Amino acid sequence: MTTMEERLEDRIYTYSTYLLRKFHRKVFRVGLSTGIKCPHRMRTGGCIFCAPETFTGEYLSCNLSVKDQLEQGISLVTRSCGEVGILAYFQEDTSTAGDVLYLKQKFADAVNHEKVLGLVISTRPDYIDENMVTMLAGIERPVTIEIGMQSIHDKSLVLLNRGHDFARVEQAVQLCGEKGLTVGVHLIMGIPGEDHRDMLATIRYISANPYIHQVKFHNLVVYRDTMLHRLYLEKKMELLSMEAYITELAELLPYLRGDIVITRLFTSSIRRAGIAIPEFQGVKTRWMNSLRKYIYKKGILQGTETAVTFDPHNNEIVK
Ligand code: SF4
Repeated sequence: MTTMEERLEDRIYTYSTYLLRKFHRKVFRVGLSTGIKCPHRMRTGGCIFCAPETFTGEYLSCNLSVKDQLEQGISLVTRSCGEVGILAYFQEDTSTAGDVLYLKQKFADAVNHEKVLGLVISTRPDYIDENMVTMLAGIERPVTIEIGMQSIHDKSLVLLNRGHDFARVEQAVQLCGEKGLTVGVHLIMGIPGEDHRDMLATIRYISANPYIHQVKFHNLVVYRDTMLHRLYLEKKMELLSMEAYITELAELLPYLRGDIVITRLFTSSIRRAGIAIPEFQGVKTRWMNSLRKYIYKKGILQGTETAVTFDPHNNEIVK
């Protein structure tokens, strides 16, 4: 049983802590689509782990206007959580792929909704340029841009068929950071071929980059009928077990700067039917408990090996 002394929120900077500090109320995200498919998937078949159907929530559809997607999403959230603040989360595919004016209108449709407090936009680094970032920086609500980084190692980006190198990620992060956007990055821990030292190098890079404010951790989930699934079946890919992933993640946390928000620890909440390997169909709360127990057993606190140790009692808003 979780005791008061063993809350994950006292050891790492969780997304819920951040949202509460920033908006002073409970906030939920509603997933949205710009209506544009990921060009990288259309052109090359996409990243080896990509399973586009997993982006699609019940209310999220390319065929609905942003306003209708929001209405449906907000009514679902309100039914289960009551009156809460809303972040419009453009999470499907590559949400900055497309004409700047077209996207400007889509994002305006979202921020003009009375319940929307801000935007979160998920994308690839090679669809971020000066024009796009200037448009995003002009939106009069907080904008967070989530960039798929995955790893700082080019060999891993090639293996995942990301279609860009790490230098492209660095440029995109800098461009967004310099214009004042809140920047989050997606990382995959346990990419085949990476060892602890490789993952540690990625975390150290993130802690040293002043433009990165948030990190979303993913375990490498194998969805059915993906390229990754085929490689796994052909025994060309070895994956980290969930137990090893949890230990690895916990051991990396001291090296993650304490003012960087962890927006996710696992990939789990996707429709289970699509997951190819039973071990990864686990229940998030069970993984969360294992992580919490490990962290407390080892006395781990986010950021102790960096210049900023996480302080659960510091209520200052970090951008
Ligand atoms: S960038 Fe995202 S949407 Fe596009 S192929 Fe890769 S994982 Fe899929």
